[in-house]
Amino acid sequence: MAKQAVRAASEPVSAEVAKPRDGQATAQLADVDHEDRLRLITDALPGLVAYVDAAQHYRFNNRAYEEWYSIPRAEMEDRHIRDLIGDEGYATIRPYLERALAGERVSYLTEVHLRDAGDRRIEATYVPDIAADGAVRGFVALVHDVTERERHLEAERLAAERTADRAARLQSITAALSAALDPPEVAEVIVDQVRAMLGANLGVVAVLTEDGSEFQSLRLVGYPPEVAHDPRRLPVAAPSMIGEAVRQREAIFVESWAERIERFPHFGDANAVGGNGAGTALPLIFEGRPIGAVGFGFPADRPFTADERDLLRTIAGLCAQALERSRLHAAEAQARAQVEAAIQLRDTFLATASHDLKTPITIIRGRAQHAANQARRLDSPLGKRIADAMAIIEATADAMQEQIGELLDLSLLRVGQELQLDLQPLDLVAWVQDEAERCRQTHGRDIAVSADTPSLRVQADRVRLRRVLLNLVGNAVKYSPDGSDIAIAISSEWSSEGPSWALLSIRDEGIGIPANDLPHIFERFHRATNTTGRVAGTGIGLSGARQIVEQHGGTIAVESIEGEGSIFIVRMPCAERGESA
Ligand code: ADP
Repeated sequence: MAKQAVRAASEPVSAEVAKPRDGQATAQLADVDHEDRLRLITDALPGLVAYVDAAQHYRFNNRAYEEWYSIPRAEMEDRHIRDLIGDEGYATIRPYLERALAGERVSYLTEVHLRDAGDRRIEATYVPDIAADGAVRGFVALVHDVTERERHLEAERLAAERTADRAARLQSITAALSAALDPPEVAEVIVDQVRAMLGANLGVVAVLTEDGSEFQSLRLVGYPPEVAHDPRRLPVAAPSMIGEAVRQREAIFVESWAERIERFPHFGDANAVGGNGAGTALPLIFEGRPIGAVGFGFPADRPFTADERDLLRTIAGLCAQALERSRLHAAEAQARAQVEAAIQLRDTFLATASHDLKTPITIIRGRAQHAANQARRLDSPLGKRIADAMAIIEATADAMQEQIGELLDLSLLRVGQELQLDLQPLDLVAWVQDEAERCRQTHGRDIAVSADTPSLRVQADRVRLRRVLLNLVGNAVKYSPDGSDIAIAISSEWSSEGPSWALLSIRDEGIGIPANDLPHIFERFHRATNTTGRVAGTGIGLSGARQIVEQHGGTIAVESIEGEGSIFIVRMPCAERGESA
């Protein structure tokens, strides 16, 4: 019987095989051979292969069926399908069987309940076996059990969904954290988002005090006021979940209220106030050191999946970083505000003090001048000594007045106010030669002066322009090695009407200015990276110089190569014709 079936099953594949052969013995041998080969091939296939006859009886089953039904295949052959798979399974696949037996090739995917093999998801194809006269003798069934594959796909889909969900949650927390400016805001984001995400009814974010002995809570939500300890200032050593998390430097997950009370008996009191369930506490670790903890309580018992535990650990890590960042940010903002207030105070003081000093000095100067004149009139050695002494007082008062003027200017420049210039005609060439001589004496450095014209007239506030020159020469001296060249050059640009611009340049062969600093070098308080911490300075000289030059209608520029030297160029309009020096 089985052999016939095998033959029948093979017919659609090769009609030749079914042809009558010469001699019974040869035919039988060929059958045996054929059947063995067929079994060998179908057994090697990953799926199930069967031949089912017109009466819905199995006639051939490959080895995969043995695993499916857990019986030897000899016990399947000749049995009705319903017998093997039970009524429920049979009801599911019956319509397909009938269609195949009506001569139709059928493919389907369905869920089927097999009596002995349980619920299965199968992908099947039935190929009808049609005789030469058109009668359907049966069909070949090719079945794939896709239960595992689908289960796997489902698991993968769920895992992908979980990953996406987790990424979205982390993303929303990160976005909220990046907008949080100070530690309380960070704590608010964490408590609110995690409570909403996991359904916690209690949430706390607490940071450790300086000495690490106490928690100071930044946000505390849902705790009944009747809780025995004051949760806003809790000793780390006291029994609490967050305390234990910090002491052990490990996350604690307690899935039931019973376990919570057992591990942390003090919760018994809290329980009396309001029912509670699972709980978790995680230490906040920044750069290997605990800085606080987060804790959450749930209204009922609940398990914490591996994913949730991971997510909470990641959130605790983010929270620690955000807290530290916002703490530094807040401290920095406070320090900056203090510095700004101090500068403001100093500038106001400078402005008032220098203004107040101006009047008495003018009086001293006037009195000294008057006394000197009187003494000279005595025409005696004593009168001369007095006159000389008065001249010294007057010169000192002049110097003081200049210094006070500078202080006043400085305070005005700092607050960005314009100076009241006292413009007078000036021969730049003669003036610079004069000033350079004083600089040589002050700094003990050789300073070369050259000019492409014997004189060049400008309108200038001598006191302020001197300040510019002294600052540029002072920097050239300060930022170049002793003995290296410093040169001042004066030149002019001409238009058809005569000289239009006066150029004053100060060149040194010093340390130069790094390219990155060059665009900022005239900004107030900016000091180049190659000078900060090495050469004393304030970074206000050049910004003041620029303001003074610009108020003269001119410009100031710099060219410099780090390590080779710098040249500062002041460009000022020449005096109109008729304005004489
Ligand atoms: P200070 O010299 O007090 O720092 P300045 O405003 O005069 O302030 O100068 C600002 C910065 O410009 C200096 O700190 C220095 O870095 C750079 N600088 C100015 N002049 C020179 C120079 N001649 N050579 C090199 N660097 C200079």
